[in-house]
Amino acid sequence: MSETRRCPHCQSSFLPSAYRPQQRVCGQPDCQRRRRADYHRKKLATDPEYRQGVGESQKQWREEHPGYQKQYWKDHPQAVARNRQQQHLRDQRRRLRHLVKNNLALDLKHSASEVWLLGPKLHDLDKNNLASAQVLILAPVVPLPVEPSPS
Ligand SMILES: [Zn+2]
Repeated sequence: MSETRRCPHCQSSFLPSAYRPQQRVCGQPDCQRRRRADYHRKKLATDPEYRQGVGESQKQWREEHPGYQKQYWKDHPQAVARNRQQQHLRDQRRRLRHLVKNNLALDLKHSASEVWLLGPKLHDLDKNNLASAQVLILAPVVPLPVEPSPS
């Protein structure tokens, strides 16, 4: 015979389901939602495979609900700021690709200060200013397509 328990969320007493004797949270929808959210949070923090699976299904969900993203930006101004910052980095990279493509070597030099932000080993290279500038510029840039040679 099972005993009544106290739900940790709503503090009310309940009888565990006969099918789930381990039940710790009462059957109210709100409390079950919180139980699932707790489980989700714990799994995300401790299980890399679970985390990856969640990332992939979220990506798919976004692709199937394109209107949601707009509303999300509206509701989450901090996410907008973060995204804007990342977009700024993407723009910098695109500008650099453009410069490389057009062989504007002088402009490349000019942009070097911006590239410091992108370089993953900026601290090491920092000691070796001149030589490293080139490395840093080229590293984040997508390789140019090779022109087919006339034959
Ligand atoms: Zn409850």
